[in-house]
Amino acid sequence: PDHIRNAVVLPRYARVNTNITSIEKVLEALGKMGYVLGDYVEGLHLGKMKPKTVLHDPHIPNLLILPPNSDFHNSDLLLKGHIILQDKASCFPAFILNPSPNSTVIDACAAPGNKTSHLSMLMNNTGTIHAFDKDPLRLQTLIRLTGRAGYIKAKRTSFLDIDPKDKTYAEVSAILLDPSCSGSGITRRLDHLLVQSAAGKESSTVVVEEDEADENGGIINSEARIKALADFQVEVLMHAFKFKKVNRVVYSTCSKHRLENEGVVEAVLSAQSEFQLAKNVFPEWGRRGVDGMKEVIRTLPEEDHCIGFFVALFERKSKA
Ligand code: SAM
Repeated sequence: PDHIRNAVVLPRYARVNTNITSIEKVLEALGKMGYVLGDYVEGLHLGKMKPKTVLHDPHIPNLLILPPNSDFHNSDLLLKGHIILQDKASCFPAFILNPSPNSTVIDACAAPGNKTSHLSMLMNNTGTIHAFDKDPLRLQTLIRLTGRAGYIKAKRTSFLDIDPKDKTYAEVSAILLDPSCSGSGITRRLDHLLVQSAAGKESSTVVVEEDEADENGGIINSEARIKALADFQVEVLMHAFKFKKVNRVVYSTCSKHRLENEGVVEAVLSAQSEFQLAKNVFPEWGRRGVDGMKEVIRTLPEEDHCIGFFVALFERKSKA
């Protein structure tokens, strides 16, 4: 099947939970497990890393790169929440939004909470994060992951039902919007792939830690589904633009479809005039949008060693 032929072996990424530990302590614990810190070299094939090596990611602070087969299921590092297994590309939205400490932020489609937890670290555990998701089970995971910290206010709701004029949200200055998408950028991790053949039908069970994957397990991406998703993505982005003090909105998908990515950006840019694409976003990252959309970011699993991802940062236009 295509998903096996197209599969790319990706390294494992572990983001350090700096709210409760430090990268030095995690490296020390990894050292005791036999891991040796190596030097990141440009062009290294990260899918073929030597076993028991660990590297600093060159782009995302507090992110470590580990070999594809690294298993942390029984390790205290994972069980005690000192590391969060989160693909590199999935760290881009919070990194790019870069909320200030003490600010008020909305994570609009937040569960299971990987990006919420990343936001809280960038804000040094200060300010307020309103984390919404309409799925109760996934929201429970978020509450577990983010440790019920008081400054993270989790609420089971559709983001579309949140009234931008509600005074609870009057101080919101930034929004992270990572809505449901086709998941077409998710690369199956071959090392965890288990394919069973039953009655001539292929079915696959894949263990993936990332936020995005479990939402989309087994769903076929028809053209009609992509179109419906894009309509939804435009609707939630337009909703995000309605909050009066919001200056920055980051939009992301783990889709490779133009319609859900540059297509959504084009649609919201022509539907309103208060927000524009921010310039000079993450300039160290070379891979930009298709069709000349230079302001936005894309990733390509084969070359970037992470899942296929898309990120756009919108900012409020300054009043002339
Ligand atoms: N940001 C999450 C993370 O990093 O862990 C992953 C989010 S996942 C790609 C998309 C989420 O959007 C799903 O959990 C889904 O339940 C939620 N969702 C879909 N429609 C929604 C809506 N109208 N309002 C709020 N959440 C919604």
